[in-house]
Amino acid sequence: MTVTSVELDLNRQQEAKAYARIRRRLSYITMGIGVIGIIILLFTNLGIWLANQLHTLSWQPVTGWFPLQILAYFLILMLAYEIITAPIAYYSGFVLPHRYGLSTMSLKSWLADLFKGLALSLVLEILVIEFVYLLLAIQPQTWWLWVALAMLFFSVVMANLAPVLIFPIFYKFTPLPEGDLTKRLLALAQRAHARVRGVFTMQMSNKTTAANAALMGLGNTRRIVIGDTMLDRYTPDEIEVVLAHELGHHVHHDLWKLIISQSILTLGGLYLVNLVLHWTVDTQHIYISLADPATIPLLLALMGAFSLIVMPIGNGLSRAIEYQADEYALQSTKMVEPFKSAMTRLANQNLSDVEPSPIIEFLFHDHPSVNKRLKHADNFAAQFANPVTANSAQ
Ligand SMILES: [Zn+2]
Repeated sequence: MTVTSVELDLNRQQEAKAYARIRRRLSYITMGIGVIGIIILLFTNLGIWLANQLHTLSWQPVTGWFPLQILAYFLILMLAYEIITAPIAYYSGFVLPHRYGLSTMSLKSWLADLFKGLALSLVLEILVIEFVYLLLAIQPQTWWLWVALAMLFFSVVMANLAPVLIFPIFYKFTPLPEGDLTKRLLALAQRAHARVRGVFTMQMSNKTTAANAALMGLGNTRRIVIGDTMLDRYTPDEIEVVLAHELGHHVHHDLWKLIISQSILTLGGLYLVNLVLHWTVDTQHIYISLADPATIPLLLALMGAFSLIVMPIGNGLSRAIEYQADEYALQSTKMVEPFKSAMTRLANQNLSDVEPSPIIEFLFHDHPSVNKRLKHADNFAAQFANPVTANSAQ
């Protein structure tokens, strides 16, 4: 049997580093614009003035809850932000991926996806913020607890419905024809005791040159999904070991771990927001009540600052979970070489920096670097070949 080893493309690595650096800088700029906008709203009269302009929208179905004012204020802020940052979004989302050969989208289809995504997130965000302000009005002491519980419930529902409701808006899914690969993947899922609704290909090639595979959904919507960009250039062994990683997430209940940990962080964040809001209303008298629509910029600023501070915690947890899924993939298949070649292929194809600086990895990366994952596979191979020495050598 000949083993075709896959080499890391060093030219691609240089490009990967440059690409990551440019994108990072652009995201700092976008973030900076948001911060400046919030500071202007909070520390000049603009925020309060804007809220006052909307007082005519005085519909009040529940005492203290002004859904139309909240809707108008939130829309003005979000649309202004989207319009101001649009040139950066265009450059970083369209121009740059084309320059680096990652995107295969026409401007028209890119814009269509952009608007679909914006519309979807705006609708969800409006529902959330209206709900938050309703609770601020009727449960000013315990609103944060109810919001966190509702978010937990919503996350579970979304994890379940996303594969059938959300992803098909952006990607076309087709069942993988019966054959050797399908059989192997279903057997793999069965060994992991994962009930799945079959194996699907996701048409990614009309959007990107990058590859991906996933186990999507929860409960009876769970399915194995492979990007068509992976199907046509990875060996069946490589695809199997990538899917074994995904099944590792299932075996370890990682989706639940992420949902629960996210909910705990949200709860903590909302509690801190609650303290600050009460302070501004009860002792500083800056706003009339917690549910005063003028508090929207403050609420957004606090939530934004909190999620930025806890981002490294979430990413650290995610990297630990990903490491365990790799361990499962290696343990369950014992396919060390396919694992390494798949990782190398992915790094080449997806233009990922195999060795980001430790601080960048710590702050922003939700997966271990490819170099760490390759080393993990080598360590596993050494241990597997000689378990006794490996154990005594720790
Ligand atoms: Zn993973």
